[in-house]
Amino acid sequence: MPINNRIADFHDEITEWRRTIHQHPGLLYDVEETSALVSEKLREFGVDEVVEGIGRTGVVAVIKGRKTESGRVIGMRADMDALPIVEKNDSPYKSKYEGKMHACGHDGHTAMLLGAAKYLAETRNFDGTAIMIFQPAEEGGAGGLAMCEDDMMARFGIQEVYGLHNAPGLPVGEFAIRPGPIMAGTDEFTITITGLGAHAAMPHGGNDPIIIATQMVQALQSIVSRNIDPLKSAVLTVTAIHAGKAYNVIAQEAQFYGTIRTLEQEVRDTVIARLKTIVEGIAQAYGAKVDIDIKEGYPVTANHAEQTNFAAGVAKEISGDSKVNVDRAPVMGGEDFSYMLLERPGAFIFMGNGDSAGLHHEEYDFNDEAIPVGSSYWAKIAERSMPAG
Ligand SMILES: [Zn+2]
Ligand SMILES: [Zn+2]
Repeated sequence: MPINNRIADFHDEITEWRRTIHQHPGLLYDVEETSALVSEKLREFGVDEVVEGIGRTGVVAVIKGRKTESGRVIGMRADMDALPIVEKNDSPYKSKYEGKMHACGHDGHTAMLLGAAKYLAETRNFDGTAIMIFQPAEEGGAGGLAMCEDDMMARFGIQEVYGLHNAPGLPVGEFAIRPGPIMAGTDEFTITITGLGAHAAMPHGGNDPIIIATQMVQALQSIVSRNIDPLKSAVLTVTAIHAGKAYNVIAQEAQFYGTIRTLEQEVRDTVIARLKTIVEGIAQAYGAKVDIDIKEGYPVTANHAEQTNFAAGVAKEISGDSKVNVDRAPVMGGEDFSYMLLERPGAFIFMGNGDSAGLHHEEYDFNDEAIPVGSSYWAKIAERSMPAG
């Protein structure tokens, strides 16, 4: 029985929640309307506990199984925030807030986890405790980290944690996952060189920050090609370079910036360490001052082998073996579920959204046909990881 029958009964209701959330998008931590709806529904379902304000506007629900003798506690996470995009769709449930839009499908993620919460609170057919995590600020605000910093894992005794994201281009009803790194760690760097400007015709009077900056940009190319194992992945891209204003003046300052994407902490550490060494060394060689600012983004989202295997098994139970790709190539985008995976073993899975516009596109829409698939996945994650016997 691929899709849980009882959940199939809720399909219309969950779709309605999804569309209500879609109409009222909030950015980053400003998801009060969504978290209020989530809390209200959870109370209506009769879950054992609803805790608001974890990670500022996050919500955590506790659902105890018929038995809790196993002592097992499993966390399942959805994200609630939208993006600063003007929606171009003309659906009856289009965003009511101009310039805010659920363009990453977090409306669907939230509604599907709510659907599973309703089912689990009604049936309780497991031995242990299900923790439903609704987080704010996935889109660059590190809401997942904020919830962890509020001591969520220890407070609720979470032992394992699972996450899911819809995937445009993957047919509805299909899943994709892989053990190990599945999404990249992202960092941004800004390098500011302060040298000595001069008359363009008397360059020996200065030390030309433009020459220094271009030497640096060239030398940084050797990190990926010469310091990283060819069988591993890293991207270092300089995306901007700024200096100078006149034909006859050597600038006093040059600045460039860019992004680093890696799939392993060790590779990330190497790239950052080499960047610092190269930039500082060149600056010193030319007698200039350099300021290095590295803004750490989300860590690598790294799936744990055992939990990945378990999650893939659950997905196969719903969709069949041939519909679950267990060796999906990693995505070089970032995801802040990574913070939760640093604290507890778990797995992050992709679920098909069909032939929709891409994530973060102004015409993207979560595919409501995928709702029973996602809610069934969550219900089974709880029931299979904490079997009632
Ligand atoms: Zn997104
Ligand atoms: Zn997303």
